Amino acid sequence: MSEKLIKSLAGTRDILPWQWEKWHALHDAARRQFSIYGYGELATPIIEEAALFIKGTGESTEIVEKQMYTIDAAGEEDSGNAISLRPEGTPPAVRAYLESDLHKKQKFQKFWYSGPMFRREKPQKGRLRQFHQIGVEAIGGDSPLLDAETILLADAIYRDAGLKGYRTCINNIGCEECRPRYRENLRTYLRDRSDELCPDCVRRLDRNVLRILDCKNAPCKETVADMPSITGLLCNGCKDHYRTLKTVLDAQGLDYQEDPHLVRGLDYYTQTVYEIKHEELGARDTICGGGRYDGLVAQMGGPELSCVGFAMGVEATLIAMEAETEPDEATSLNPDVYVVCFDEPARIKCFEQLTMLRGAGLSADMDYEGRSAKAQMRSADRTGADFCMLIGGLEIENCEVTLKDMRSGQQWKAAWDKGADAILDALA
Ligand SMILES: [Zn+2]
Ligand SMILES: [Zn+2]
Repeated sequence: MSEKLIKSLAGTRDILPWQWEKWHALHDAARRQFSIYGYGELATPIIEEAALFIKGTGESTEIVEKQMYTIDAAGEEDSGNAISLRPEGTPPAVRAYLESDLHKKQKFQKFWYSGPMFRREKPQKGRLRQFHQIGVEAIGGDSPLLDAETILLADAIYRDAGLKGYRTCINNIGCEECRPRYRENLRTYLRDRSDELCPDCVRRLDRNVLRILDCKNAPCKETVADMPSITGLLCNGCKDHYRTLKTVLDAQGLDYQEDPHLVRGLDYYTQTVYEIKHEELGARDTICGGGRYDGLVAQMGGPELSCVGFAMGVEATLIAMEAETEPDEATSLNPDVYVVCFDEPARIKCFEQLTMLRGAGLSADMDYEGRSAKAQMRSADRTGADFCMLIGGLEIENCEVTLKDMRSGQQWKAAWDKGADAILDALA
């Protein structure tokens, strides 16, 4: 063992067998709600042409500028173009929609997806370079009711998963008609105060001024805090859309806050944007973000279609879920039966019983390390087995098994081929 151990990459992590409980609680809740809300599952590849994100996510976004993992695929048989690990799920979903010609068959579609995404970020709490998202995209509908549906869906998933201390923030960032006016206002306001901005934000003044509202640096935050919001500059269409959304959310009793400075870090959002935040995450407290992206499909070569969607950060959400629950002991596997071998020659017969138990649908396990009966009993205890099946020379001679209820300590015998039935009876 003189070889140096190779460690995992910064910003990546393993999920060990006993760390899955909350993961599954969240994904199960999501799957339940997707079915209730009528969203169909969509899986897209982890690798895509880099151009998909440059066009879709936006060239001037931080994601595309700094965070994509891209390889040069020159010389590959079927693609001479650069390939990226997907940094987000929306452009691939739109690509899949267009590539399957769904816009010609059944224009309105609701999808959900889950899986790993990749961004070269500075690793920190809740931010990984390989992270996971659960997301939805509703393509082909411009009703504010659809915006409301996705917000209520995200809320339903979190409630179903048992999460409590989160808050939902919403805003309307305008459309192609009214946003340019706001962008100009913002630019004028901030240009006068550019000495108060961080170097990144000074660059953003020309390229992507809305992103300054999203900057996490304290001086920038202060500078934008008193800034006029977009709300007063919205066109009538956007005002109506926003008003209807709020009326619907109010009627549903959803507890939300309006945040006129909420913009989201992506170029394609129009009108409605929203974030769900949890205080446990610190400065970057968003666990779910979404909004409307009415121009994206056309921008990617498809027809003019209105869409809305969200993406939940799985790891960020799990931090919130874990913070809300008492830390418990590592979850063990809790088999129904642990088969204990009392005499070495009986070991093969133990395996035979193990197979019979599993064949009957019982979860069962045994020792593979050749340990003593006493050590095997300790394992049975540690794994949280409900019953033990004890097999030694005597049992084999009499063609029977000894069973032990691990809670009561009660022991009894069963015929060799009735062991599984006896356990099933006892469990019932
Ligand atoms: Zn507008
Ligand atoms: Zn800044």
